Amino acid sequence: MNFRQMAADRHTYAADWKARTGGKVADYFEPYFPEEIAYAAGILPVRVLAEHEPDVISDKWIYGACFPARDMINQFLRGRMDYMDGLVNVEGCQWIFNAYEVITNNKPALFRHYLFLPDYTDSTTSKDVLRSELAVFRERLEAWTGRDITDEKLDHAIAVYNENRLLLRRICELRRADRPVLTGSEYMDMLLANQVMDKAEMNGLLEQFLRELEGRQPGRDTIRLMLIGSETWNSDLERLVESLGGNVVVDELDNGTSYFWNPVYPQKDRLMALALRYLGRPHNPVKDNNWRRRPEHIFELAEDYHVDGAIISKQIYCHLHGTDNYAVWRLLRERHIPFHYMERDMSVPEEETALRLEAFLNQVRAGATRLAGWHRKAVL
Ligand code: SF4
Repeated sequence: MNFRQMAADRHTYAADWKARTGGKVADYFEPYFPEEIAYAAGILPVRVLAEHEPDVISDKWIYGACFPARDMINQFLRGRMDYMDGLVNVEGCQWIFNAYEVITNNKPALFRHYLFLPDYTDSTTSKDVLRSELAVFRERLEAWTGRDITDEKLDHAIAVYNENRLLLRRICELRRADRPVLTGSEYMDMLLANQVMDKAEMNGLLEQFLRELEGRQPGRDTIRLMLIGSETWNSDLERLVESLGGNVVVDELDNGTSYFWNPVYPQKDRLMALALRYLGRPHNPVKDNNWRRRPEHIFELAEDYHVDGAIISKQIYCHLHGTDNYAVWRLLRERHIPFHYMERDMSVPEEETALRLEAFLNQVRAGATRLAGWHRKAVL
C-alpha cells in the first residue's frame, strides 16, 4: 500500500472524488474539526497538509508566522487547492486563523465557517457551548449543501469514523511489540493519507493493510523513540531516525495518534456525543488548560509503548508548543526519559539533524534500559 504516494496525490484525489460523487470538498486545518457532521452532509473533509517548497508568496499576507500557516497560503495562492469548495476554521491557533482569513478573503465564493470550541475544555459549561456551536454548524452546512443532516446520516458518519479510529488503533497497537512489524515512517505515511481520503474508502485499505501487517515477520531490534510536538506533514524525520538505527514507535502529534485516539460514544443526542468526543480528545497546548492532561497522556504513551527516549520536534515560530514545552521537559526529566529537543520547519535539515540525532541515539544506547526500568527506579 503506497500511502506516501496517496498523501502526495491528495489534490488529484479530492478533485476526482468530486467528479465521481458530485459532492463538495471542505478543507480544514485545526484538529478539532468535527468531520462527522460534514461527512453526514455528503462533504469530503480534507486536512490541509503542508509542503516544503520555497515560499516567496505568503510574506505579503502574513509575516513571522510558523511555516505551516505560511505554507497553507502558499499552496492556495499557487492554485493547488482549487477543488476546495469550503474552508472551516475551528477556534485554535492564531496563525491558522490568519491564514484562513487570507484565503477566504481572496476567494469570497468559498463557503467559510468559524467554529468556536472553548479553550477551557473541562469547564462545566464547555459541552453545552460546543453542542450549540455544532448545531449552528449543522444548520449552515444544510443551507450550503441543500441536504438535511438527519440523525440517521449522523449515525452513519459516526459509525464510519469510529471504524476508522478502531482500525488505526489496532495498527498502532502492533507498534507495542518488541520488534514492531511496521516502521514509524510507514505509520506516519498511513496517517497522513488517512486525513485526506474518504473514510469509507480508507477503511477498506486499512483492513487490507492490517491483514498484510499481521502476516509480516517481526522487524529489526531498534532504539524505541516517541515523537512529541507540533504537527508534521511528512515522514522524513521518522525515516532519518530509521536510518540511524532507531524507530519512532509512538507519537502524540495532532495529526498522529491524537487524531484518532478516542471514539465517539453514541448517545441519543448525536451532537452532544460529538461535543464530548472533541472535548475529550488528547489535547494540544491550545486546549490543554487548567486541568492539564497533556503531560500525563505523553507519559502513559511512553510507558505503554516502552520507549527508550523521546524527540520533541517543534515547528519554528510555533509559540504554542514553545510555551508548553516547559511542562513536557519537566515531566520527562522527572520520569527519567531521555529526550532530544529540536526545532524545524517542514524540512529536516539532514546533515545537522542527522548528527544531533545520532549523538542522541548513541547516548540512549549507552545508558538504555527500557522505560519500565527507569519508571521503576522513579517510582520506588
Ligand atoms: S505549528 Fe504551531 S503555530 Fe503553527 S499552526 Fe501548528 S500549532 Fe499553530
